[in-house]
Amino acid sequence: MDVLIVGAGPTGLTLALDLARRGVDALVVERGEALYPGSRGKGIQPRTQEVFADLGVLEAIRAAGGPYPPRLIWRDGQRLGDQPMFEEIPADEGTPYTDPLMVAQWRTQEVLYTRLTERYGAGRVVFGREVTGLTQDAEGVTVSCADGTTLRAAYVVAADGGRSAVRRALGVGMTGETVDPVPFLVADVRVRGLDRDHWHTFPGTGGSGLALCPLAGTDYFQLLARLPEAEEADLSLDGIRKLVATSTHLDADAVTELRWASDFRPRAALADRFRAGRVFLAGDAAHVHSPAGGQGLNTSVQDAYNLGWKLGAVLRGGAPEALLDTYEEERRANAAAMLDLSTGVHRGEIKRGRATVQLGVGYRESSLSVDTRGTTEGLRAGDRAPDGTVAGVRLFDAFQGPHWTLLGASPAGVRSLPTAPRSYGEGVFLIRPDGYVGWAGETTEGLADYAKKTGAFTTP
Ligand SMILES: Cc1cc2nc3c(=O)[nH]c(=O)nc-3n(C[C@H](O)[C@H](O)[C@H](O)COP(=O)(O)OP(=O)(O)OC[C@H]3O[C@@H](n4cnc5c(N)ncnc54)[C@H](O)[C@@H]3O)c2cc1C
Repeated sequence: MDVLIVGAGPTGLTLALDLARRGVDALVVERGEALYPGSRGKGIQPRTQEVFADLGVLEAIRAAGGPYPPRLIWRDGQRLGDQPMFEEIPADEGTPYTDPLMVAQWRTQEVLYTRLTERYGAGRVVFGREVTGLTQDAEGVTVSCADGTTLRAAYVVAADGGRSAVRRALGVGMTGETVDPVPFLVADVRVRGLDRDHWHTFPGTGGSGLALCPLAGTDYFQLLARLPEAEEADLSLDGIRKLVATSTHLDADAVTELRWASDFRPRAALADRFRAGRVFLAGDAAHVHSPAGGQGLNTSVQDAYNLGWKLGAVLRGGAPEALLDTYEEERRANAAAMLDLSTGVHRGEIKRGRATVQLGVGYRESSLSVDTRGTTEGLRAGDRAPDGTVAGVRLFDAFQGPHWTLLGASPAGVRSLPTAPRSYGEGVFLIRPDGYVGWAGETTEGLADYAKKTGAFTTP
């Protein structure tokens, strides 16, 4: 097999979907007997909506969730007023999606899983298979599982979450800090007595507090509580009823059902490496952080999206193996910046809005970003390629799929639009499969060398 993906969370499923459409032979092995049931990462940022549009799942994701409601603050059973959750960002032609969507993570995973299995075959995810170790040699990786079986693949991707067994087996360290020393409890519950048009927040004393957010597209609320320092999280229905009764004006029996609960202490940590030989770390296996600001799932999806086309280009497009080194180069720097951002949002130093929508994520400093023009103005190699229209063709439609797209020139055999939109500025722009400007020049001179390095014109 070409690629073994460990873990069927959002990272593993996104990668599996991207590799499947590239004709790469990939398998996901998942320790659980089913997809993880919690609502955890419920914010789908605008940049991730663009990724999901490219993967053909945005409509299904929209149908599985809805917009974020405003935050309503309660004190002593009185409504103190509401406020929007996010700074408003106007949409324009280049950025069609600017509002985060709320989708319970279990539903996002269902959408990805359904698309993967309905389109590419049910056998692409194996449940109940836990990876316990691995060894690698020059040709591939042998992975051992708890049931005594082994699997062999040319490459392995650790998408097995924050406690990644693969990361440990590789001996890759995780360096970081505690963001908040107190315990947090998160749960999916049914609650009587609250409307579903607000994110209800109940500030407590000494920084503790509880929030109940209606999960769009479901009957549940996501409960998130910051507990007093000395308190242990009680994850039982009775424990959660008590917590609701002491933190809000609701009675204990207002909580009518507990679907899922978990506890955590927010940390911000980054894996020392994202690649060890033929093994790559992606998603929470590579970075963990506070859930504040809704960056985790989104950064994880983008890790997968960055790695997918590169694996496809090396395995199917004849690109040199060195292309795979740019995964760590691009994504580790990005994850480091995101850790600072989510810690800043957690501590109330940064507002949710422009900083958290991830539309500004880019790779200008990457060795894969080549700009041969003299200009330092406007759109540059490494920037996200904005949407636009050229001769009646919508760019995001032209970009959709596993291919590269050339704008501003049309050599034979290359997917292209002979002119770039005015919003891009003057020049020729080669757009990567993951929607970033890879190469920019005044003419196509130098483009062929770049294409050889990246598999740009040979990737199916
Ligand atoms: C309370 C909370 C709120 C959050 N809110 C947000 C938010 O609003 N927005 C956001 O973007 N992010 C949020 N996050 C973070 C988000 O949930 C994670 O970043 C995301 O789940 C990471 O996806 P992943 O696929 O990398 O890992 P996971 O979702 O952890 O998936 C890993 C998978 O690997 C499997 N696995 C583990 N070990 C093995 C093994 N040895 N063998 C085989 N399989 C294995 C697991 O069973 C699991 O299915 C939140 C997290 C929490 C806890």
